[in-house]
Amino acid sequence: MFRELFLGFIRVHILYHASLGPVYGLDLIKELGGHGYHVSPGTMYPMLAKLEEGGLLVSEKINVEGKIRKYYKITDYGGSVLEEARARVRELAGEILEEG
Ligand SMILES: [Zn+2]
Repeated sequence: MFRELFLGFIRVHILYHASLGPVYGLDLIKELGGHGYHVSPGTMYPMLAKLEEGGLLVSEKINVEGKIRKYYKITDYGGSVLEEARARVRELAGEILEEG
């Protein structure tokens, strides 16, 4: 149950980072680790695949020094979902943070 709750935050956070520039799985795992979220590759890669299936991200395979890396970019639709998520997080989290 708690896992499901945090996975939602993580998805929104992935969209946010993808809105700043192309991202890839390992980079996001490290980035989220810096926020105190330990996400395994077995969670991250299916999550990225689902965001792509949903049309929020689009991937491109890029050869980086002989290694094929899958980069994800945010789509226009993903951008509008992020904007909506931003407003919703502000609304709901704002109250929680005030109470605290
Ligand atoms: Zn971050």
